[in-house]
Amino acid sequence: MKHSDLLDVVHHYGAPVYVYDAAKIRSQYQRLTQAMVGIPKLKINFAMKALSNISILKLMHQLGAGLDTVSIQEVQLGLKAGFAPDQIMYTPNGVALDEIERVMQLGVGINIDNLSILEQFGAKHPKTPVCIRINPHVMAGGNSNISVGHIDSKFGISIHQIPHVLRIVSNTGMHINGIHMHTGSDILDIGVFLQACDILFETAKKFDRLEFIDLGSGFKVPYKAGDIETDIEDLGAQLSVKFEHFCQSYGRNLELAFEPGKYLVSQAGFFVTQVNVIKQTTSTVFAQIDSGFNHLIRPMLYGSHHDIENLSNPNGKKRFYTVVGYICETDTFGSNRQIAALSEGDYLVFKNAGAYCFTMASNYNSRYRPAEVLLDQGKHYLIRKRETLDDLLHNQIAVSLPEA
Ligand SMILES: *Cc1c(COP(=O)(O)O)cnc(C)c1O
Repeated sequence: MKHSDLLDVVHHYGAPVYVYDAAKIRSQYQRLTQAMVGIPKLKINFAMKALSNISILKLMHQLGAGLDTVSIQEVQLGLKAGFAPDQIMYTPNGVALDEIERVMQLGVGINIDNLSILEQFGAKHPKTPVCIRINPHVMAGGNSNISVGHIDSKFGISIHQIPHVLRIVSNTGMHINGIHMHTGSDILDIGVFLQACDILFETAKKFDRLEFIDLGSGFKVPYKAGDIETDIEDLGAQLSVKFEHFCQSYGRNLELAFEPGKYLVSQAGFFVTQVNVIKQTTSTVFAQIDSGFNHLIRPMLYGSHHDIENLSNPNGKKRFYTVVGYICETDTFGSNRQIAALSEGDYLVFKNAGAYCFTMASNYNSRYRPAEVLLDQGKHYLIRKRETLDDLLHNQIAVSLPEA
């Protein structure tokens, strides 16, 4: 994305603003499908919790992706965006049976990740096919907040409990149509991921009515120069061979699904903010911006790195800054960052702002959530208006209590 495009958007819609590059989303989607050409029945389900704006969902639909959802509300948004029920997979964690049944009535694919609900669901609805989420207990990634495959994880049915799953299946006569895993974000080591696939394929052989295998996601994208990213082409090549062997021994060609969130949208997103104050202290120079962790919480929540650049003075001499937000508690976007010399009023851009950024935004400090803009072929489209005071008050009820 060119700096001039971002400046154009911010001049038009004001700051702070999220900007998404449609071309980058398309190219990531194409790179992934290209890497997996060896898989005859490939399905890419976009994990919409990463970026759930309805215009982004429509773009994903246009590309041919399905959806991975984690709540009934995400399912409903997906249907509104034009996805057919059979293009949507529902992979909740720890939700009540009642919500799962309501999603079932919408005709969406269901993934169950614990024995208690599996048994209750199977007893009541033995004819409705369900997928089961398995935890292979493989640590594929680094960050413990987003790694979900380890032994103490709350996610999935432990691989050691397969005998119990099989007993539930035979007791209820239920139909298991898919086996799923999602080992969590940041796959650095393809070998470890493939090892988890082996475990999953072995498990799959115990179920004779499968239609698909779902390998979740966790593909790592680069955040800064020198970052390792998942070698998706190498993964595709090795996985194709493994999957073909599996299908041969299973006796049928199954569909293979992935559920990328970050991989498809992280690098397509740019968060543009403005510098309010440059503040020199005895030890550092702060750049205080017109935003905070209410708009982009990832650095504070799990220490994620977002490259920061000065859009207004890109060729200025590089200086060290600590970039902080306006929230009235510790609110740091990046410490000791080398950025082209900043002045008050300059526009700053945060990179990798497509995944888990706007979707985690809040109204903390009673601030408005930013606008969102989609850029495509030289045109910008406003896809979410900046909030107003009415939005903050929308569901509030001003009760005046009688004098005590
Ligand atoms: C969040 C999530 C994903 C997407 O993970 P990324 O790291 O963004 O690719 C995929 N599957 C499930 C079940 C998820 O909860």
